[in-house]
Amino acid sequence: MSVILTILAAIIASGACAYHRTSLRTWAIATAVTTLVVGLVARAPITTVVLLVILGLVAVPLLLVDFRRARISAPLLKMFAKVTPKLSATEQTALEAGTVGFEGELFSGKPEWSQLLRQPKPELSVEEQAFMDGPVEELCAMIDDWQITHELADLPPNVWDFIKKNKFFGMIIPKRYGGLEFSALAHSAVLQKLSSMSATLSSTVAVPNSLGPAELLLHYGSDEQKDHFLPRLADGRDIPCFALTGPQAGSDATSIPDFGIVTKGMHEGKETLGIRLTFDKRYITLAPIATVVGLAFRMYDPEHLLGEKEDLGITLALLPRETPGLEIGRRHFPLNIPFQNGPIHGKDVFVPLSTLIGGPHMAGQGWRMLVECLSVGRAISLPSNATGGSRMAVAATGAYARMRKQFGLAIARFEGVEEALARIGGYTYATAALSRATAAAVDRGEKPAVPSAIAKYHATEFSRAVASDAMDVHGGKGVILGPKNYAGRAWQGVPIAITVEGANIMTRSLMIFGQGAIRCHPYVLKEMQALTIEDKREQLRVFDRVLFGHIGFGFSNAVRSFVLGLTFASIGEGAGDAYTRRYYRKLNRYSAALALCADVAMGVLGGKLKFKEKLSARLGDVLSYLYIASAMLKQYEDNGRPESDRPMLAWAFHECVWRMQMALDGTIRNFPVRPVAWLLRALVFPFGRREVPPSDRLGRRVAALITAPSEARSRLLNWTYLTPGANNTVGRMNALLPDVIAAEPVERKFIKAMKGGQLHSHDYDGQLAEAERIGAINSAERELLKRVREGVNEFIAVDDFDPSELRSAVTRADRKPTAVKAA
Ligand SMILES: Cc1cc2nc3c(=O)[nH]c(=O)nc-3n(C[C@H](O)[C@H](O)[C@H](O)COP(=O)(O)OP(=O)(O)OC[C@H]3O[C@@H](n4cnc5c(N)ncnc54)[C@H](O)[C@@H]3O)c2cc1C
Repeated sequence: MSVILTILAAIIASGACAYHRTSLRTWAIATAVTTLVVGLVARAPITTVVLLVILGLVAVPLLLVDFRRARISAPLLKMFAKVTPKLSATEQTALEAGTVGFEGELFSGKPEWSQLLRQPKPELSVEEQAFMDGPVEELCAMIDDWQITHELADLPPNVWDFIKKNKFFGMIIPKRYGGLEFSALAHSAVLQKLSSMSATLSSTVAVPNSLGPAELLLHYGSDEQKDHFLPRLADGRDIPCFALTGPQAGSDATSIPDFGIVTKGMHEGKETLGIRLTFDKRYITLAPIATVVGLAFRMYDPEHLLGEKEDLGITLALLPRETPGLEIGRRHFPLNIPFQNGPIHGKDVFVPLSTLIGGPHMAGQGWRMLVECLSVGRAISLPSNATGGSRMAVAATGAYARMRKQFGLAIARFEGVEEALARIGGYTYATAALSRATAAAVDRGEKPAVPSAIAKYHATEFSRAVASDAMDVHGGKGVILGPKNYAGRAWQGVPIAITVEGANIMTRSLMIFGQGAIRCHPYVLKEMQALTIEDKREQLRVFDRVLFGHIGFGFSNAVRSFVLGLTFASIGEGAGDAYTRRYYRKLNRYSAALALCADVAMGVLGGKLKFKEKLSARLGDVLSYLYIASAMLKQYEDNGRPESDRPMLAWAFHECVWRMQMALDGTIRNFPVRPVAWLLRALVFPFGRREVPPSDRLGRRVAALITAPSEARSRLLNWTYLTPGANNTVGRMNALLPDVIAAEPVERKFIKAMKGGQLHSHDYDGQLAEAERIGAINSAERELLKRVREGVNEFIAVDDFDPSELRSAVTRADRKPTAVKAA
């Protein structure tokens, strides 16, 4: 017994030090002292001596720094240099392009929650709020999405004018160039509101404010280029597009075959040094009406007119629409969401060197420029559009499910529908928090490369699920297209968001963990960088420090993961209030588990992990759900911990944690080295998988929340266009919702009278009159039922067409698209 006690004491002391991440010295001393004291008290001298000798054999070589460097780190450095895959120039550029924010803490296994909670609450300025209440409201009021998507296949001219006049295209352009210079949060808020009305509108506005000519000029343009283009882009005199993708190069954008040869040619009647371009681009948003085309191509200088280098690399230029030889104007037709999008071609198009963004010295810097700017736009455009669409789905489906009655009940009361409503509410709550978090990161000056990939993927995937559930709940009402259908187009357009700015499968499989692991890991990038240090002594010194930091980190995560697994994360550091403390602790557990599994995967699989996309995707999922859950907790704190939000927070949080568990389980189940997988399972899931998805009861509370007006529902519908105008059915439905709810008890009295055989009329009005006459309802109640019935009839109605109307639509779609003049 005394032997076991002594061994146990040594293990616990050692584990406690690892759990709390003490220094090596503290660990050695604490373990030695505990062993000695417990050994003496328990009278186990031999065990104590054996344990102290083992401890000495491990600790002393590690604590003798010179010995450790020479005998341990030096050989490991050689091995590490051999097995570490060399980063390609493209990967190196991608890694250097972003910053690391709170996601780094999530990867640490021991997140410092105060860092997250200290971040300022993101808020709109007075000017930004005025823009939301003024021009954004006005613009939404002008939208007739059926006219846009079916009749015109374009925004109407008055909408184009309004967008330009009010500088919707200049949200990211500084005021000194005539732009609005909005915060990322305001930019996001505007897009959310626009997308709640029309995906065509929000896509049109999003693109010039995302990665494209304006953003590139702001960062790399010459003063002359900035002074010329930025004021014109801000007020819409110039419409930009940015052309990278072509038939051969989609996801693998670095492989573009489009090329430009440095040569002399005629420009405006003079012989000029320039580039002869040949390119074939497709899917380019705003291209059909663009007046300036940002073009990515590979630049070559075979005659060495610029210098020694022949293959200069990817380069960016800005071509005016009038450039001779530029073929532009035809349109693609993306899934009935007819924002302007089309191909651009050119063969031997000559442009002067002054068209290069930033001038000739930026030749070959194109990929770096794109990657450096990518994260900012990606953190805002698609997450915001997805959030706006999902918020509108909450407003629409929540109200519709309360109004639409079948089998004598509002369909929201059926458990099957309730399940879908819960997902709609929970995912929207998560999406809103996620897009808010990435916008806030941009406003703090971060370049959130990893969070922007997380937000792009998960916001669009959540919104795909929301759109799908919204369609199911609407039944035939969602399927029949026409002016009365407010759900169908949003559902049709979902794959567009999934595809653009890094198609989702690739974003999940390659980018989130692929970049996150190296970028967010506290040691991996430093170890790789150590390999590039030329001074060998310094290299060894740095490598040794980082390596032993890394080993300690690994042990600590193994212990933390195991201990937090054993205790179901009921101990340890937490934050928040009594309600959310357990949530923070759960995230501590999965942060440690992620850090452990990531380290083991990288250590065991090395460079091969890059090709194990299914493992990489699952580890990326864990990081993503940790990020989303943290964003929700921060949102809850910033909103003053509203009790009424708790069902949505709880639902979305449990969903995230359950998904984290399943992703980790999938990683371990499929880990190719089985003994390692067994060890990981013991450390990560000592009692097996215990997390469960959100309960039916919780789902019922979320469904109830989104089907009746409340403070929490209003918060969820923030930045949604709900003004009940003629163009906004969902706004009108929500305006009627309080009456629909007030009518429910009255309806019960009415139905009771009906079932009791007291009403004999066959029409509703007659029945109402009878019900009043016999005193089943009073006159105000009769009026209420009448008003609600009329409103609901309007909202459940669908469109029908004269066959010739549909024929003309088909003809229009089939006709060869013609060139559209620049707006
Ligand atoms: C409506 C629309 C607007 C667009 N606007 C613009 C624009 O303005 N400017 C511009 O330059 N481009 C634009 N694009 C292009 C867009 O960025 C590309 O469509 C996107 O990069 C994907 O390329 P692809 O369609 O050729 O798909 P592919 O590259 O052929 O990919 C097909 C599938 O394979 C997956 N995949 C590819 N590689 C991997 C990998 N290594 N691991 C796992 N999965 C992988 C992808 O995720 C995808 O699911 C637009 C596209 C659309 C549809």
